[in-house]
Amino acid sequence: MRFGRLMGWFAAILMGGCATSSQVKYERYAYAELHMATMFSITLYAPSQAQADRAARAAFERIAALEDVMSDYDSRSELSRLCGAPYGQPVPVSRDLFRVLQLSLVTAEKSGGAFDPTVGPLVRLWRQSRKNHQLPSPGEIAAAQAAVGYRLLELDARRQTVTLKHAGMRLDLGGNGKGFAADEALLVLRQNGLRSAMVAASGDIALGDPPPGKKGWEIGIASIDHPDHGLTGALCLAHAGVSTSGDTEQFVEIQGRRYSHIVNPVTGLGLTHRIGVTIIAPNAAISDSLDTTISVLGPDKGMRLVESWPGVSALIVLLDEAGNQQLKSSRFERYLSASKP
Ligand code: ADP
Ligand code: MG
Repeated sequence: MRFGRLMGWFAAILMGGCATSSQVKYERYAYAELHMATMFSITLYAPSQAQADRAARAAFERIAALEDVMSDYDSRSELSRLCGAPYGQPVPVSRDLFRVLQLSLVTAEKSGGAFDPTVGPLVRLWRQSRKNHQLPSPGEIAAAQAAVGYRLLELDARRQTVTLKHAGMRLDLGGNGKGFAADEALLVLRQNGLRSAMVAASGDIALGDPPPGKKGWEIGIASIDHPDHGLTGALCLAHAGVSTSGDTEQFVEIQGRRYSHIVNPVTGLGLTHRIGVTIIAPNAAISDSLDTTISVLGPDKGMRLVESWPGVSALIVLLDEAGNQQLKSSRFERYLSASKP
């Protein structure tokens, strides 16, 4: 997993400023660092610069530690070492790796494998295609698919072990790792006494308490077809995860067809339907996994999954020759900000 780079249509943070609490004056502090090939930004309110700096440092260290666990680009990461171990045998793993895999399997099961943390062999093949501008052959796809399937990933919670049940399996946390890391960084800020905070990993954002004196953080939604043309709406959110995904930047054209970097495990190819998804969820690990999932499932099955998942809302934008069509889940409207972006 390269964990993506800056996204084209992404959630932009609109709100600055700060308010005072009754006694202590909380100022706004902002930080940014590159991790997981993505710009992570932290915005927080703190009573002193020293406390803000200390907490932000600890949060970035946590993100860096998680990159060492989850990266599939780094052959020394815990994930890479797990994939290199002989298959069919339980491998003891860290609590972090176990938790993120457990979360991945929940989304995999609920989506019938549209989201699949074992999609690595197909993602690798697809990365080659994106580089060479050539589709993989049916034989190559079938060979990769033999080592893909979330049921081939076995977790033992009591022993905290992972078993890969097929040769050649590669795990890929590109679809939810950044959201997971954003949640964990937010937790570190809270443990350092700072609750009014936001951690944004490009388009995956974890939100804690709102800024002092405010109802929530205002998050702008950029348009999928014209990311530079301003915002299509704004959300007001706290204690939540919000993620967006689309193919505005990460796509490839092969033989006149446009393919996204999200792979449909059934076809083994990048998605060809143009879809942009914004998900609001209880945390960013879930919102991150679901923007990928709903992109694969498409609007009908995707909305059904969203409506059935407690605390989850979605905005789906479909783009075709006729223009774009916006679909909102039943609970989405309540998060739209009253103020115009
Ligand atoms: P980004 O925020 O980088 O746009 P997403 O959250 O949509 O990305 O995740 C895309 C990444 O997820 C891909 O780069 C790949 O690593 C991984 N991925 C691709 N297809 C799937 C899938 N069907 N299930 C799970 N992960 C996927
Ligand atoms: Mg995602």
